[in-house]
Amino acid sequence: MTMKIWSCAQPDYIFYNGEVHTVNSTDHVASAVAVVGNHIMATGGDAEIRNLAAEETRQIDLKGRSVIPGIIDAHGHAVETGIFLEGLLVNGMPSIKEMMARVEEKLAAMDPGTWLQGGCWIETQFAEDRMPTRHDLDPVSPDHPVVIERIFAACVANTHALQLAGITRETPDPPGGVIERDPKTGEPTGILQRSAKSLLRKMMPTGTDTASLAGGTVDEIESLARVAMKELVKYGITGTVEAGVGPEMCRAYQNLKSRDELLLRVALMPNWYGFTLTQNMEQMARFIDEFGFYTGYGDDWVRLSGLKMAIDGGLTSKTALKSWEYLGGDPAGEVPLRLDLNKLDGWVKQAHDANWSVGIHVMGDIAIEKAVNAMHRAYQANPAPRLHQLVHAYYPSSDSLDKMREVGVVAAVQPAFIYGEADGYPQLLPEDKQEQFLPLRTFIDAGVTIAASSDTPCAHYNPFWGLYSAVTRKGMQGYQLGTAEAISVPEMLRAMTMGGATLTGEQENKGSLEPGKLADLVVLDRNLSATPDESLRDLEVDLTMVDGRVVYRKGE
Ligand SMILES: [Zn+2]
Repeated sequence: MTMKIWSCAQPDYIFYNGEVHTVNSTDHVASAVAVVGNHIMATGGDAEIRNLAAEETRQIDLKGRSVIPGIIDAHGHAVETGIFLEGLLVNGMPSIKEMMARVEEKLAAMDPGTWLQGGCWIETQFAEDRMPTRHDLDPVSPDHPVVIERIFAACVANTHALQLAGITRETPDPPGGVIERDPKTGEPTGILQRSAKSLLRKMMPTGTDTASLAGGTVDEIESLARVAMKELVKYGITGTVEAGVGPEMCRAYQNLKSRDELLLRVALMPNWYGFTLTQNMEQMARFIDEFGFYTGYGDDWVRLSGLKMAIDGGLTSKTALKSWEYLGGDPAGEVPLRLDLNKLDGWVKQAHDANWSVGIHVMGDIAIEKAVNAMHRAYQANPAPRLHQLVHAYYPSSDSLDKMREVGVVAAVQPAFIYGEADGYPQLLPEDKQEQFLPLRTFIDAGVTIAASSDTPCAHYNPFWGLYSAVTRKGMQGYQLGTAEAISVPEMLRAMTMGGATLTGEQENKGSLEPGKLADLVVLDRNLSATPDESLRDLEVDLTMVDGRVVYRKGE
């Protein structure tokens, strides 16, 4: 039995007769765990743990089921996910036909004229194997403007929405964007790429648009966060990193905390360079250099994580900054970058010296190298501990991996994208680049900490889909990206728990089931060790506990 404090206290909960994956330094698996107040009291065998019980202790027979530490989704957008949960979440839908049926169903309950906003789809998830257009949407949405986001860089709108925004065959493409048109008629198809999306956004009511969230009211953000939290805890998520926040979102989360309405713990990443459209950079400069808060400020519930930056775009939108070519060649012209690379080192140093960490969105090997070099240089000039991170980091070079290990840069990775996107990679990526995509094995073998995340709503927040894909390297339709980069269930479990705790500097408090740590835990619906790899994606959660309190119980 491992137990160190509260030896005279009586446990509030005991879970026994199961498989308790502690995710401690040796990946020990116990059969029981005791919780006192908001902390883990002890783990061990059934007899010794049940011996601690007092009359009031609630004893839960696991009947062989597994307990794991609370899952930390180390990069995502919970509030934005709330928008699609209120509207329409289309991640993982198998066909355009089904998506349209769901749009119709949803609109039936909405007042005519109100906007329906949904997301996020990718064409390779659909049996039809193409992007949806307004011609799919129009028959089911005659009376409502509808816009449904792609996972990245595009959306589809119906005719009603295009008309409201005044988008016609005469409308020129805005700088950095494309209004896709029918090659025969020249009429818009409903697909709006990159900055063309903003033509629609300015028509949308405040707070229902992802790009204007920074301008949404605190009340609206609070209610979206409530919707999202309620859903995330059903999947065992006890902590999330909310990436890309402005002042209103910080205020909203703090309000929820002060009213004791948080169902899970949140680390906030303020938008910085690469997101200047949604951020007041003058205000940010003062906040970072002068105001006195920095990464780590807060408590176990709400705290500041790193500043969010972005260099390149996406893989499937062919905007990753990389040294190799897509199958069939790359689009003409330079990759559109989201910040001035000549200034990157200076900005990272500015943050580093002001005690802030940065988290940089990088996809391609060149973008990764630029980000890692900037972090490495900042450390060399000022070797103070920081929590710099890369977000996505699909193709790290061995030089980048060496430097990441050397200075302790964590990679916030999304095996969920393998699940959502891999089925389309045979058309996009040369075979060796499929194999090397999101190289989890390589990261671990190089000694780099990985923190698993969903990037919800870009991928579905179901963490067991990510677990399935990290282990099998398969997409939702079954396409496999080779197995050289596959990792084991315990390795991925660590990335889903301790990984996120390490990313926010909370590894002493969270991420594993060890005496003294916060009582964030999950009871799965089955025994994890006995679950065949193919069935990992079917895992469900029976109970989620956050801070010693049951926040979700299946069937209630
Ligand atoms: Zn993101």
